[in-house]
Amino acid sequence: MLKLWNTESRTREAFGPISDDEVRMYSCGPTVYNRAHIGNLRGYIIWDVLRRLLISDGYSVIHAMNITDVGHLTDDGDEGEDKMVKASREQGKTAWDIAKEYEELFKKDAKDLNIVLPEPPLLCRATEHIKEQIKLIQTLEDKGYTYITSDGVYFDTSKYPEYGKLSGQPLDEKLAGARVEASSEKKNGTDFALWKFSYPNGRPFDSAQDDSATRRQMEWESPWGFGFPGWHAECSAMAKKYLGQPFDIHTGGVDHIPVHHENEIAQSVCAYSVPLANFWIHNEFITVDGQKMSKSLGNFYSLDDCREHGIDPLALRYFYLGAHYRQKLNFTWESAQAAQNALNKLRSTAREWDAPSDISLEYDDHFMAEIMDDINTASALGVLWDMVNDTELDSSVKSATLKRWDGILGLGLTESIAKPLEIPENVTAIADRRWEARSNKDWDVADALRMELENLGWLMEDGDNNYKLKPKK
Ligand SMILES: [Zn+2]
Repeated sequence: MLKLWNTESRTREAFGPISDDEVRMYSCGPTVYNRAHIGNLRGYIIWDVLRRLLISDGYSVIHAMNITDVGHLTDDGDEGEDKMVKASREQGKTAWDIAKEYEELFKKDAKDLNIVLPEPPLLCRATEHIKEQIKLIQTLEDKGYTYITSDGVYFDTSKYPEYGKLSGQPLDEKLAGARVEASSEKKNGTDFALWKFSYPNGRPFDSAQDDSATRRQMEWESPWGFGFPGWHAECSAMAKKYLGQPFDIHTGGVDHIPVHHENEIAQSVCAYSVPLANFWIHNEFITVDGQKMSKSLGNFYSLDDCREHGIDPLALRYFYLGAHYRQKLNFTWESAQAAQNALNKLRSTAREWDAPSDISLEYDDHFMAEIMDDINTASALGVLWDMVNDTELDSSVKSATLKRWDGILGLGLTESIAKPLEIPENVTAIADRRWEARSNKDWDVADALRMELENLGWLMEDGDNNYKLKPKK
């Protein structure tokens, strides 16, 4: 049985979906204003393993992921500039072109990492769901959870006593900790924008008042005036549209817990009076050479940087699977190289094995017990190596077992595993005749047929209840 650490309950819980055979899962996706760095990619790899694991456990998985192409401000809150607009200015392209370019790069990175992304419409862009976000905000307004300032429509967190539950910080503590900027008209420091105005009080662009250079590239009309949605609204609106509410699993990075996910929960629960998701799971950060990733240190490595260092994307995937997703992980070029070496060894070893026969139930039970225990990929890889190094185990069994596990780990090993044997029909027919002769203790005929098979390049191995054919080497 799959067990998952639920951030909300702070316990390891047995997983069961809302409907019997279907799991509905939402992952917070990328903000497409720059190239994903290796730290961003860790979560997507883990959620891909979770998706594969659920499928191998017999569920069909409906997986939705957003593409944030508007509304994510540089400070992650309500201050600063829209990340898309900033990138547009810095790179001299339109915000729309920036979004398109980095969304494509994200999809390419995902493909190179063997991550199966949802297909549209389940891979959903914020800019294509403005109507749904407006509807969410209107519902909140009708229920009295919002207020309007000169720069937008805000959610009043003091009206939702459960605010702070996900991060384990009671509302009064959170309120005390979050300072209200002197310039802000927010009632509480934790309040957040549902809709931001392009220009004061939501009026449209006015060339008599505004320099045309300040005109927003991305803005929409709303019941409150011209503007754009706050970052958090898209996830609540699109998750409800594509998965319903509540759904089963919501994933994201630990950095999402205190603000983005608290805000998603507040909006969704207050609007629709049911929980947003039953399981909240979060992956930890990576550090690079023991330090936080940062622009000033120049350690925002991308997959291209990995390639330049001789690390292929699947070796990065292997590297991430080598640690539990809830542990902080330190990336160094040496540790990435060690992952590359291990993967190379696995590939070349598997290439030498016989074609897949039956899986090893014993090893498979062990492997599944590890990986079903809160996606413990690190221990599962330990079982994998025990099997690889087991000199007693037939290599055709190793091939079959590794092939099954690769369906979950997604390391692209199937190509390295020997192709299934194609045995010509005439060879099978002779082997059947020999098996019958042997059963009848007709040894002369059996020996003659064995010779015949060898002349055709095949060895017949007799078991207790059946035989096996192997090509003569
Ligand atoms: Zn989200």
